[in-house]
Amino acid sequence: MEYQEVKMPKRKNIALVAHDHKKAELVEWTKRHREQLAEHILFATGTTGALIEKETKLPVEKLRSGPLGGDLEIGAKISEGEIDCLVFFWDPLAAQPHDPDVRALLRIAVVWNIPVVSNLASADFMFSSPFMKSEYARQVPDYEEKKRKDWPLRGA
Ligand code: PGA
Repeated sequence: MEYQEVKMPKRKNIALVAHDHKKAELVEWTKRHREQLAEHILFATGTTGALIEKETKLPVEKLRSGPLGGDLEIGAKISEGEIDCLVFFWDPLAAQPHDPDVRALLRIAVVWNIPVVSNLASADFMFSSPFMKSEYARQVPDYEEKKRKDWPLRGA
């Protein structure tokens, strides 16, 4: 498959989401990384965003709450190229009413090859990457070519 480069700017659009039992963990993490997060533009699902704003005093663009469509809103932004990184602390020990949306969000992040982290250690690794402080050329598969070859009806 051919790839196209998508330039991620130094100042990134970061989406933050945490399931209920993971919210405290994510909020603590944002407090630890407050200085670095202040260099970027933050988006979040409704409840997660309100908590992060309250605890860090950083501005957060809050979308709908996850179970009411917030995960899908973030997914739509990823597919529009409006989100550069996803920090998503999903809960591996609790069933979610919006599980299909959770899966859709994780899937679309992979489709567009954006960095995704799902726990404290991977979030620390993401934020210690030099790419968080510089531009980064993200390789995105050339889906136009795939449409023409494999999905002729979509490529028409
Ligand atoms: P919330 O949504 O931040 O509104 O709780 C997160 C989720 O459950 O996906």
